[in-house]
Amino acid sequence: MKIASDILKRLAVSIKGQCRFNEPMSRHTSFRIGGPADLLVIPADESDLQSLLAGIYRSRIPYMILGNGTNLLVLDGGIRGVVIKMTTGFRQTERKEKILKVGAGFPLPRLVERSAEMGLAGLEWGVGIPGSLGGALVMNAGAYGGQMSDIVKKVWGFTRTGDKLTLKAGQINFGYRHSEYPKDFVITGAELEMRPGRKSSIRGAMEQWMSKRQKNQPLSLPSAGCIFKNPTNDSARRLIGVAGLKGKKIGGAKVSSKHANFIVNDGGAKAADVLRLVALVRERTYREVGIELVPEVKTAGEA
Ligand SMILES: Cc1cc2nc3c(=O)[nH]c(=O)nc-3n(C[C@H](O)[C@H](O)[C@H](O)COP(=O)(O)OP(=O)(O)OC[C@H]3O[C@@H](n4cnc5c(N)ncnc54)[C@H](O)[C@@H]3O)c2cc1C
Repeated sequence: MKIASDILKRLAVSIKGQCRFNEPMSRHTSFRIGGPADLLVIPADESDLQSLLAGIYRSRIPYMILGNGTNLLVLDGGIRGVVIKMTTGFRQTERKEKILKVGAGFPLPRLVERSAEMGLAGLEWGVGIPGSLGGALVMNAGAYGGQMSDIVKKVWGFTRTGDKLTLKAGQINFGYRHSEYPKDFVITGAELEMRPGRKSSIRGAMEQWMSKRQKNQPLSLPSAGCIFKNPTNDSARRLIGVAGLKGKKIGGAKVSSKHANFIVNDGGAKAADVLRLVALVRERTYREVGIELVPEVKTAGEA
């Protein structure tokens, strides 16, 4: 659906934060893939976000929320409407003993580091996960036996009508790399309950997990991390390997030879290449091992 440019221009005038028209989403995704967003807005703060949402609601324009773009495949035709990037305006942190209040735009790797400095345990597994706190909450990000839902106490933000809403952890349906919020809910912050821990053991766990990542993951090439969820009691990486797909390439998209559950952008990949490769991996894996893989990475935009 084409959005009239005068509506978007009018919306942008009222914003204190940054507004960019026809912004290539390849600049905002770890895959380095994605066509242009009609309008990308980086709200300066909560009141900016609130007036943006009110304007969007009045004009009935579609919008999507972007964190750090590390779990996202944006299609080649780009995104119609507004992309709201939750970064710099939402990075406040506050500590009260073992409780941390953190803004949704706070980078997860920095939060892991900050927790270690404070001697607070519970997030060591997050070392090397390049998302924002907001994206980690939506994805219920996790690794090495830990996940966000283990430490979340409350999540707050705005509904699509611009109303403030706070949800207790028990009101959020968390699953494996999944969580459920009201439609189009914009998370602005969360309260996390950590555990007091010895700095040396927190750092020890972080170093162990980080060196495992460096050894096993193709971190020098653009990707969105694991492309599929692990099936119950098995690993997508193992199954794709068994199906003989390591190194398989379509256009610029390639199944990593180092970690078969990573699709990497090997140079100039289009979203269409990634989608074709995803379809091929799913079909071959199903044929060879009888298991249907489910994508973990979210897809947005128009082909
Ligand atoms: C090298 C690499 C390694 C990775 N390793 C792991 C891993 O070990 N474990 C793991 O779980 N993930 C991993 N990931 C994936 C990714 O980093 C996580 O899923 C991360 O939590 C996504 O955060 P993000 O801010 O980048 O979200 P985005 O990709 O920007 O968005 C993801 C989803 O969350 C929504 N969203 C984002 N912010 C908000 C907000 N404030 N309010 C409402 N909705 C929002 C978006 O609309 C989208 O639907 C890895 C990725 C890479 C590139």
